[in-house]
Amino acid sequence: MTERNAVIEPDRGQAAIALHLVDKAGWDSLLRALSEGQRAVLAAQKFAAAPGDVAIVPDGAGWLALGGIEPRAALGTWCLARLAETLPGGTYRIVAHPAQSGVPGLAAALVGWIAAQYRFDRYKTDGASPEPRVLLTTDLRAIAPAQAEAGAIMLVRDLVNTPAEDMGPAQLETEARALAKRHGAEIHVATGDALERDYPMVHAVGRAASRHHAPRLIELEWGDPRHPRVGIIGKGVCFDSGGLDLKPSAGMALMKKDMGGAAHALALAGLVMDHGLPVRLHLLIPAVENAVAGNAMRPGDILRSRAGLSVEITNTDAEGRLVLADALTRACAAGPALLIDFATLTGAARVALGPDLPAMFARHDDTAAALSAAGLDRDDPVWRLPLHQAYRDWLKSDVADLVNSHATGFAGAVVAALFLDRFVGNGLDWVHFDTFAWRPTGLPGRPKGGEALGLRAAWGLLLARYGRDA
Ligand code: MN
Ligand code: MN
Repeated sequence: MTERNAVIEPDRGQAAIALHLVDKAGWDSLLRALSEGQRAVLAAQKFAAAPGDVAIVPDGAGWLALGGIEPRAALGTWCLARLAETLPGGTYRIVAHPAQSGVPGLAAALVGWIAAQYRFDRYKTDGASPEPRVLLTTDLRAIAPAQAEAGAIMLVRDLVNTPAEDMGPAQLETEARALAKRHGAEIHVATGDALERDYPMVHAVGRAASRHHAPRLIELEWGDPRHPRVGIIGKGVCFDSGGLDLKPSAGMALMKKDMGGAAHALALAGLVMDHGLPVRLHLLIPAVENAVAGNAMRPGDILRSRAGLSVEITNTDAEGRLVLADALTRACAAGPALLIDFATLTGAARVALGPDLPAMFARHDDTAAALSAAGLDRDDPVWRLPLHQAYRDWLKSDVADLVNSHATGFAGAVVAALFLDRFVGNGLDWVHFDTFAWRPTGLPGRPKGGEALGLRAAWGLLLARYGRDA
């Protein structure tokens, strides 16, 4: 991680390649400042100062680089990402920028510069990774936060991209233990009989997996107990076959990513502890594989939850809400000031909003507004969906307190959120993210594959609410 983050360095006047940022508006004046030979090289490379355009031109004995950026007042997170992907390896210094007074927003762009150089090559045996592109900055205070945020993004990508055989419940536990050790946090993991007794629905969902991928409830606590308690929960379904209500091949293909919520939760907890945010952190990850075996839970089974409510299983593929429910019950008992969960919970959220926008549910309007604002501020947009109480009726069961999956098929993301809502203490400030954790098509700085979506919006909210400057 440290190595990958090292592509940002303090500018101490060391040798570096000059990088001119230019937008369409500034293109003419920059052209006039270049020599005839340089203009000819640019024309040959078809450089037109469009966002993402990159060109290299000779400059004395060496060369300089030009990068096209969007004509906006400040740099956004991803505006340098294409440059970071396509420039030759080396060390760069931004020497010119359309907004002549320094480089506004560079701190945000540093995140994109780092994250753009992410590669998932753990399983590749051919070829060396490209030489890093290092960017110098004089804004020394921006370096560590950018490295932390980019590191959190890349952690989510790594965890999600790793196939289920190598990222099962045991490996999620290993990740959580490493995180706890790094920050001196307490960690407790419930398995076996303790899991069956204390987190019965986590056990019921995960019990059909092989012993190697046995279910567990991972719980981490950190920080001064006098500080406001923040609960963070992540759905850790390391592989979701659908259970006995087996998914078809197309629906199962990406299900290594069904622990994406856990990846977001681990990454967010890491940001909290790395920053030293003055909160009492309570991280909970129900980690399971939803597998098929003779002891798998069946349609029609009735589960007892940690909260005491009984749940009729109408679809074994609606397993995420079951494991989350027990974790939410535990988190609420500790009395959090704020509770956030992340889950790759429903396809319906994707039908509604597509892959880019995580569905966000919040009980409190001010929390929802703060999250939306933080998402826009960090180029990590989220979109609020309603906890429409009338649909609670769709969760009624003939034989138990609740069904886990409703029959109408309408508003699947909303009804899943309402299921969780039943397990969250009254009046508690709770936020639920139904996130895809995956990018089906690459964008600058954001390759196809596992992705953090909603992570930095949530981090922005925590910083705004609990940061020392708040
Ligand atoms: Mn499922
Ligand atoms: Mn699932």
